[in-house]
Amino acid sequence: MLLIGRCALRFASMLAHAPMVSHVATMDVAVSPKTRVDKAHWAHLWDEVITSGLCTGCAGCVVACPHDVLGYDDTLGVYKPFHLEAEDGPGGCGHGDRGCTSCTRACPRFRSWETEIDGFLFKRSREDDEVAGISKDIILARATDKTVLDKGQDGGLVSAMLLFCLEKGYIDGALVSYLEGDGSTWKAIPGVARTKEEVLAAAGSRYTYSANTMAYGQAVEMGLQKLALVGMSCQSSVPPVMGARKVGKVTKKFALNIGLLCSKTFDDAIFEELFEAKYGLKKADMVKMNIKGVFQIWMKDGSYHEVNLKECHQWTRDGCMTCPDFAAEHADISTGGIGAFNDWTLTIVRTDLGRKIMIEMLEAGLIEGRPGDDDPGAIELMRKLSIVSRRRWPEKVNFKGPRLGIPPPKPKAPAPAVAAV
Ligand SMILES: Cc1cc2nc3c(=O)[nH]c(=O)nc-3n(C[C@H](O)[C@H](O)[C@H](O)COP(=O)(O)OP(=O)(O)OC[C@H]3O[C@@H](n4cnc5c(N)ncnc54)[C@H](O)[C@@H]3O)c2cc1C
Ligand code: SF4
Ligand code: SF4
Repeated sequence: MLLIGRCALRFASMLAHAPMVSHVATMDVAVSPKTRVDKAHWAHLWDEVITSGLCTGCAGCVVACPHDVLGYDDTLGVYKPFHLEAEDGPGGCGHGDRGCTSCTRACPRFRSWETEIDGFLFKRSREDDEVAGISKDIILARATDKTVLDKGQDGGLVSAMLLFCLEKGYIDGALVSYLEGDGSTWKAIPGVARTKEEVLAAAGSRYTYSANTMAYGQAVEMGLQKLALVGMSCQSSVPPVMGARKVGKVTKKFALNIGLLCSKTFDDAIFEELFEAKYGLKKADMVKMNIKGVFQIWMKDGSYHEVNLKECHQWTRDGCMTCPDFAAEHADISTGGIGAFNDWTLTIVRTDLGRKIMIEMLEAGLIEGRPGDDDPGAIELMRKLSIVSRRRWPEKVNFKGPRLGIPPPKPKAPAPAVAAV
């Protein structure tokens, strides 16, 4: 109570009394969650998503496969699923031929995934101006515990939320990302967090890929029942697409879905090929990184370096090239670091569960909050970056959902009149 202050309590009460859907829908009817997956299986996923360039590497298909015949290649920057049984070729699956459809049901890039999930989660279609997804509240939030705030990438909201949800029994584990070994390779790997030490060890951002969904198997082996998934936008559509398409057992274990805003991740090779080769910055000597208009790198010797983002672009991971989701549009709560205030997390509250947890944390004094209107530039930037990402969804794909809201190209300026000689 002392830490949060009266102002933040008023803010919590404002959230509690806000209408449950802040954006007025013109189409009020519930969208049918009827799936467009039909009888499609691995062969269709292989053709329409994996080899067509839509696959993000989110690993939803791998964790949903009830026959354990899908593997996941996270070596040498691949980050893609593959079939473990080679006899029918890479795109063949005997279980699929016999009627199994779990992988396509769990894929948040298969056919009309976006509209299906919107209908399932929000019971309505998206408006043209909702390019960053449907939401209830946008606020700025940060942890009041200094250790959590210091360890967090921005306001430490994600870690504070995991700690709160573990303590209150909302979850009994979280699928997060760690650095492998002693951290000197900067290889981001999925893992499970159940304690304060583990949550804080996972805090902060790495800008290479970590399919946190892949820690699901480990969590199940530990006997965990109520999981939070922390993941980039692509991963945060996994639990709700499974819900919308009724994958069943796996879906039920996801109790909370926390999204990270994301415009791209980089190939692991960027460390050697750019940071070390051009700037002499060895990954073993790095202590922290962030992206704020430039790639920021802090070294063990106390030095600080900036690398122009344009230079980094050629190391964009393949799986990000067609990704249309910047704002983690299907999470319970989406979080980002854009905006004027460095140590606050831009927080997009999307579901009733997300709002309930935010209110309880504010009232318990575990986070402080301020209205999103304090930083209108951040919200406008989120909108612009969402449009940039949505333009990546290929026009040739039949399912146009993710291209909704993209403004038409600006008309060309008329050619200057040529004066008669
Ligand atoms: C690859 C990536 C790209 C991002 N791009 C943007 C962006 O363009 N704009 C923007 O506003 N915000 C972006 N973010 C989100 C931002 O960096 C913060 O994660 C977010 O604001 C939450 O901050 P926090 O202090 O509340 O979280 P913290 O308390 O620091 O918790 C962060 C959580 O993220 C998990 N995590 C860290 N790295 C990864 C990873 N590589 N893969 C999966 N999970 C991971 C950690 O395990 C931890 O649980 C990005 C994050 C990542 C990981
Ligand atoms: S996008 Fe995700 S679920 Fe779909 S094929 Fe790729 S890894 Fe599997
Ligand atoms: S841009 Fe981010 S959210 Fe999209 S595929 Fe890449 S990692 Fe996933």
